[in-house]
Amino acid sequence: MYIGGEWVKAKSGSTRDIMDPGSGEKIAMVQECDRSDVIHAIEAAREAFDHGPWRKMAALDRSKLLFKVAEGIRAQASLLAELETKNCGKPLAEAEFDIADTANCFEFYAGLAPKIHGETMQVPANMMSYVVREPIGVCSQIIPWNFPVMMAAWKLAPALAAGNTCVLKPSELTPITALVLAQIIHDVGFPAGVVNVVTGPGVGAGEEMASNPKVDKVAFTGGTVTGRKIMVGASGNLKKISLELGGKNPNIVFADADFEAAVDGALFGAFANQGEVCSAGSRLLVEKSVHRKLVQAMLQKIPKIKLGHGLEAGVKMGPLVSKAHREKVEEYIRIGQTEGAKLVCGGKRPEGSAFAKGWYLEPTIFDDVKPNMRIAREEIFGPVLSVIPFENEEEAIQIANDTEYGLAAAVWTRDINRAMRVTSAVRAGILWVNHYHPTFNELPWGGYKQSGIGRELGLYGIEAYLETKQVNINLDEAPIGWY
Ligand code: NDP
Repeated sequence: MYIGGEWVKAKSGSTRDIMDPGSGEKIAMVQECDRSDVIHAIEAAREAFDHGPWRKMAALDRSKLLFKVAEGIRAQASLLAELETKNCGKPLAEAEFDIADTANCFEFYAGLAPKIHGETMQVPANMMSYVVREPIGVCSQIIPWNFPVMMAAWKLAPALAAGNTCVLKPSELTPITALVLAQIIHDVGFPAGVVNVVTGPGVGAGEEMASNPKVDKVAFTGGTVTGRKIMVGASGNLKKISLELGGKNPNIVFADADFEAAVDGALFGAFANQGEVCSAGSRLLVEKSVHRKLVQAMLQKIPKIKLGHGLEAGVKMGPLVSKAHREKVEEYIRIGQTEGAKLVCGGKRPEGSAFAKGWYLEPTIFDDVKPNMRIAREEIFGPVLSVIPFENEEEAIQIANDTEYGLAAAVWTRDINRAMRVTSAVRAGILWVNHYHPTFNELPWGGYKQSGIGRELGLYGIEAYLETKQVNINLDEAPIGWY
């Protein structure tokens, strides 16, 4: 683990085997931290924030270091992409995209670092009053396994640009690229303790990160249930929190949409990254007049989604991240069948020797799903699509909003007025029209309702790592005149 500018072992001597979900084989061994290692990392970050050079460094110098991190990522892009694919299973092309985006994210916030500024206010008294922005302090950052290095960038880059110090914990399943990133950060010359990376479980280690009183802010991406626990843990000293949580996102297709584009968007929205995406279009709402035709068109294209190890050429869907996660997704497939939804494809593990060892699952589509079924309401986080027909625009909006989540949604139509009405009516943080999934570092990412609190990325992302201070200077030297 990377703590206080050094590579250290877990105090307990524990280690964990890291697996390739595509082959079921061990690919690495990492240190397995417990609370004591997390406390060590938090103390290193505290010391670096309170007494180190980081916070007082000119923003332009912080910016230069962040630009160097982006350069370091680009220099090792092919290694990082290969490691990401081996560790979390995603197709190499998607991993390459993630790495490029990771570098872009560091550049985006490197550019913003020297542009953080306050403002002056005119007040009635004879005062000079101004507002300054300051870093919050020590940030615990807890990330999931589906976009390991990209999530690390979304957390670290804005926090560092704002002058905070960080303790980052990747998922225990996918720690490898975060460790390579730590080496890059070390090599470009970050002061000791500014970035610390611990590897270990959510239970115990993650809980310590959320509750430790020396931490000022917790930024978390993961499941909604875990998000609630983080809030409870963070409440002890009222830490600032940002939560990026789950979704059950409606992808709404109207009869007037470009049909072929909508078919592609439905499949890409549901099955990219094996469906292990918080913003996946896992509920496909289709206007009744094109519903059967659209399902048939998807079924014709499904065989073209090549399954296999992410490093194989042409693979579109890799394995699920772990054996346990595949079992969880399979349980939802059983639930869907029991609930009476119509399984029209997939629902099982692919056959053949190529799939004997990894944790593969076929892309799965349930048709005629009712909005009250569990497969239409709960986040499955795998390659399972629920198709729900609707009668008209009003019903589409009602079904789209009938969820505890509010992360993302898409609408497919050629009618601009309808697109405007629907994007306005859907209560979610991210809306796409005639597309699915494009994500930009420039734009705020996050959800309504139980999809989270706060926003990452864009200018909003750096706001989440800044405190606001007002300063009032009396320009009149006379006594206040109270006595
Ligand atoms: P989890 O909530 O299980 O875990 C996320 C992270 O939290 C992991 O590092 C995990 O550690 C850690 N963790 C687990 N339990 C605790 C705890 N009690 N206290 C502190 N930390 C804990 O989610 P998954 O890893 O299964 O990721 C999938 C979830 O993430 C989905 O719900 C998905 O929607 C969401 N997500 C949201 C995104 C968004 O931007 N809104 C983006 C990507 C994913 P460990 O794994 O080591 O146990």
